[in-house]
Amino acid sequence: MGFFVRFWGTRGSIPTPGKVAHRYGGNTSCVEIRVDDTLFICDGGSGLRELGTNLLERAKGAPIEAHFLFSHMHWDHIQGFPFFTPVYIPANTFYIYGVKTGDTRFHRLLSGQMSSSYFPVDFSELRGTIVAADLGDTGERLIGNTTVRCLSLHHPGGSYAYRFERDGRSVVYATDNEIDQTLPDPESVIRDPLAPREIPEELVEFCRDADLLICDSQYTDDEYPTRIGWGHPRASTTVDLAVRAGAKQLALFHHDPMHSDHDVERKIANCRARVQRLGGDTFVFGAREGLEVRVDVKRPAP
Ligand SMILES: [Zn+2]
Ligand SMILES: [Zn+2]
Repeated sequence: MGFFVRFWGTRGSIPTPGKVAHRYGGNTSCVEIRVDDTLFICDGGSGLRELGTNLLERAKGAPIEAHFLFSHMHWDHIQGFPFFTPVYIPANTFYIYGVKTGDTRFHRLLSGQMSSSYFPVDFSELRGTIVAADLGDTGERLIGNTTVRCLSLHHPGGSYAYRFERDGRSVVYATDNEIDQTLPDPESVIRDPLAPREIPEELVEFCRDADLLICDSQYTDDEYPTRIGWGHPRASTTVDLAVRAGAKQLALFHHDPMHSDHDVERKIANCRARVQRLGGDTFVFGAREGLEVRVDVKRPAP
């Protein structure tokens, strides 16, 4: 029992195997959130394959039930799904959530990547039960004993953040979000990277007092000017969000495929320095494969 988060894939854009990404991992987005016996899975990037293997070991033959919350359908967020073994087993049940009543878009698009031109097994041949569910008219639903809410983000084709809340503890998963383009004057902030950034109030409120904020933090300040419009923020901008929102911990997520472990560590150090400059007390760390964070106890050391 408890409120746990485990990272299975933390990389953005494309899987990045190899020694240089050994510490933070090369699998694309997949985060497991366990609240008591309710299992949530945020995104199905290549990290989902190993989560599937692990779930089967843990279940020891018992049926598996999980609730999938997809940020969006770009490849790096769905490519693990056809390799998620539990979905081939008849006793298992998976819910694929749309963000509004009757929204079956994610369920439909997910099946598209398994049509015969792309993959040898068709979606209709999966033996598990796959249910198209949704978050209702308000974009908020009680699942198990956890309230799940969504918020639309700034990304080509759209993306959604999810907030999971139980007994006053909360986790926000917000990836693929170019916050920088939602600032009142993005140009001036690029010219003066040290200036505080006016993060839109709606996003700040959504992340308010989160015990753990998992945030797309793909680019450094130096990289960003040549990547405007690609759909990802500067890591430093996510720091301003976390500090403004009073988040207790910030997990830098969706690491750039060009970044080595060393680069990620430099990014973390820069973000920690920015928290200090802003006078915040958010603890910043780099999301890495295999890391498990317990949310319902006093701040753990990742
Ligand atoms: Zn992505
Ligand atoms: Zn994307």
